[in-house]
Amino acid sequence: TRRPIIIANWKLNGGIDLMCSSVVSFIRKHYEAEIVVCPPYIYIRDMLNFLQYSEIRIGSQNVSKFESGAYTGETSAQMLKEAGCKYCLIGHSERRSMFRENNASCRIKVQRALENNLTPVLCIGENQEEQENQITKDVLIRQLTEGLEGIDVQQQNICIAYEPIWAIGTGKAATPQMAQEIHQFIRHELISMFGEEAGQNIRLLYGGSVNKTNAKELLNQDDIDGLLVGGASLDPEHFVDICQQAT
Ligand code: 13P
Repeated sequence: TRRPIIIANWKLNGGIDLMCSSVVSFIRKHYEAEIVVCPPYIYIRDMLNFLQYSEIRIGSQNVSKFESGAYTGETSAQMLKEAGCKYCLIGHSERRSMFRENNASCRIKVQRALENNLTPVLCIGENQEEQENQITKDVLIRQLTEGLEGIDVQQQNICIAYEPIWAIGTGKAATPQMAQEIHQFIRHELISMFGEEAGQNIRLLYGGSVNKTNAKELLNQDDIDGLLVGGASLDPEHFVDICQQAT
């Protein structure tokens, strides 16, 4: 069985205020789903301290493909693990489009995460033009095969987040039916790549304009196991509302 998972991605937003108000909203609540918050790196340690007696887990928004050395500005998977992170986002579309990440760099990052017992959340998704040209499935196949080539994927050691770029920050979420169709396709691909058992156990998240109004119906779809929430996670009460809809 796949436990639902809700991940907040703050991106380059928030500050000490958001961290404190989030902690106040999150604690002393019970969640059926696994809840993960990905703040900017600088807040990871404080968040972990504040939330140490809660069930909330912390993830990073990125990880270095390097292990150590002269790579100014980078943070390694080992450091994130040591700090207490459990998850790490990899290949978010914003990193691909603005920071030159590609499937090959994502694959190395997935490897680094797994070597350090962090669960990578590999982000994939087509842009608007690709959707209009009806090549969504080709794009996703490439992202999956190149991003996971040679990776020892088992059971639940990775998550995949499907985030159609046209739905990110636009208020135009995919319909639950559309999202389900793509998630089912992704699951079939994973099954053909890694076998029935792994493919059936990998959790697939949807991201792109998720809010408290559309969360429930998205989560009700057979192959949608979780949500990756951007904008709505910057309002802690709104995010908690989304988290509590996952049962
Ligand atoms: P929004 O929820 O703001 O559309 O962002 C989605 C996203 O990119 C999460 O990683």
